[in-house]
Amino acid sequence: MLLYLDIDGVMISGNSWRRPEILEDGFPEFSQKAIKSLNRIISSSSADIVLTTSHKSKYSLKEWKNIFKRRHISVNKITRLPENINHLNRKDELLSWFNPKNINENFIIIDDDKSLNALPNFLKDRLIQTSASVGLTDYLSDIALDIINKLKFEAV
Ligand SMILES: [Mg+2]
Repeated sequence: MLLYLDIDGVMISGNSWRRPEILEDGFPEFSQKAIKSLNRIISSSSADIVLTTSHKSKYSLKEWKNIFKRRHISVNKITRLPENINHLNRKDELLSWFNPKNINENFIIIDDDKSLNALPNFLKDRLIQTSASVGLTDYLSDIALDIINKLKFEAV
């Protein structure tokens, strides 16, 4: 199981009245609610993380692993989408990633990006869309786990 994960609007919720604190590694803190919710998804599904965030290429994968660790998220494996050199919106970035490939592992997508509303159904069915100002919640992690359970019974 792969979890295509955005950060801004998912792990960091964007309230204009409260900027998230920057931790010693130079990256903002994650919301406590989002940490708890993501840990629940990971521990129930053993999902590996695929970073989709626009920050994905700013750090090495080892640094990313430490960023999660410092924020008390125990990730298994972290990979990421290729660098977004053509400045595609998130929808086109995901489409160009999935289209030429044979999908050989189940996955879900967690993202707040509004462009994802226009995804084709085979991707939209796996999307858990957060509200940018709230981020990932316990309720949404229930939905994510429901989708994951459903996918288990479908052929990939
Ligand atoms: Mg985002």
